Amino acid sequence: MDFDYNENQQMIADMVQTFGKKNITPFVRQWDDNQIFPVEVFKKLGELGLMGVLVPTKYGGSGFSYTEYVTAIEQLSILDPSIGLSMAAHNSLCTGHILQFGNEDQKKRWLPKLASAQWIGAWGLTEHNTGSDAIGMRTTAVKDGADWIINGAKNFITHGISGDIAVVIVRTGDKGDSHGMTAFVIEKGTSGFTSGKKEDKLGMRASETAELVFDNCRVSEEDILGKVGDGFVQSMKVLDGGRISIAALGLGIAKGAYQTALQYSRERHQFGKPISRFQAISFKLADMATQIEASELLIYNAVNLKNNGKKMTKEGSMAKYYSSEVAVKVSTDAVQVLGGYGYTKDFPAERYYRDSKLCTIGEGTSEIQKLVISKQIIK
Ligand SMILES: Cc1cc2nc3c(=O)[nH]c(=O)nc-3n(C[C@H](O)[C@H](O)[C@H](O)COP(=O)(O)OP(=O)(O)OC[C@H]3O[C@@H](n4cnc5c(N)ncnc54)[C@H](O)[C@@H]3O)c2cc1C
Repeated sequence: MDFDYNENQQMIADMVQTFGKKNITPFVRQWDDNQIFPVEVFKKLGELGLMGVLVPTKYGGSGFSYTEYVTAIEQLSILDPSIGLSMAAHNSLCTGHILQFGNEDQKKRWLPKLASAQWIGAWGLTEHNTGSDAIGMRTTAVKDGADWIINGAKNFITHGISGDIAVVIVRTGDKGDSHGMTAFVIEKGTSGFTSGKKEDKLGMRASETAELVFDNCRVSEEDILGKVGDGFVQSMKVLDGGRISIAALGLGIAKGAYQTALQYSRERHQFGKPISRFQAISFKLADMATQIEASELLIYNAVNLKNNGKKMTKEGSMAKYYSSEVAVKVSTDAVQVLGGYGYTKDFPAERYYRDSKLCTIGEGTSEIQKLVISKQIIK
């Protein structure tokens, strides 16, 4: 296996660096302080082909594989993890669900708008009372003639307010039945479909998180992805790919935090020498570098399986679990390496530290990843 960036990966990395210098880095602090979701950045990322990375070119996407996709997320997340998170949610959750389970008409209808970022996508599985236990969801769709009427609410939805389109998974059968849920695509402006509360978060503050509210929202049969009753099973498959995204997000955070710590440790002098010369600090850096490489190996193992159409539930969960925990560990240690300055907003270490925690929670907590992995290995 060749671990060097291929030509496309290098092109994406260079493009993100150049784009980020002008359009992301100067504004990160302002977006974070004020919880601003910079929609215009995502429109520009659409022009660069990064909002439809996995979408085939015939639907207006870039037609890349997961190899290029993880590079794009990782590179964006080094600059600003919030941008990485939103780009990932748009690409692999909303767009990914339509790409995997939409029929030809649905793909032609929605994918070009999503891949170009003319429309921003959201994906709603989680509810107020059901996160890890999504199968217990309460939001319902009831058949009414040729239509369906949706009532209920989804919680913690990325782009819950700014999204132009949402894939939502709702109950159409018995509670607790894994075949009792269906995925619907709902466009903004549909009567009875509104946004609710925007969350005020610890980190990932430039990635918008809000409620979706359904009050007698009427949708048609043509808005169903796949078959009635398939929504939950589809979601688990969407999350298999989504977990690679969060792993790549964690990798970007860890790399950003590590680079910050490494540079600082070379420049900061105490007791007459750079602090990198103290073993207590250099061993931290050694641990960081090792854990980052181990994350990378797990991620590219899952990517390789995914690119080859092989089952990767266990490997995706391992990559997500490990990379997320590493992001938290490395960013925590980076704050420590910077000492008091690490605790200030003058350096990005404290933001990586806050942002990293989302990785162990979103798209299945670390505990849930361990359940998935153990289920796969015990059988
Ligand atoms: C910033 C952000 C963005 C998000 N974006 C989206 C989105 O776009 N779409 C979407 O649908 N959701 C989204 N989510 C929701 C996210 O996926 C859930 O928060 C996550 O799945 C956990 O669910 P929960 O918050 O209800 O926690 P809970 O499920 O209530 O879990 C609480 C704690 O209990 C533990 N726990 C629960 N069950 C078990 C078990 N069986 N064994 C051991 N431990 C257990 C968990 O690991 C956790 O530590 C987002 C969340 C955040 C914070």
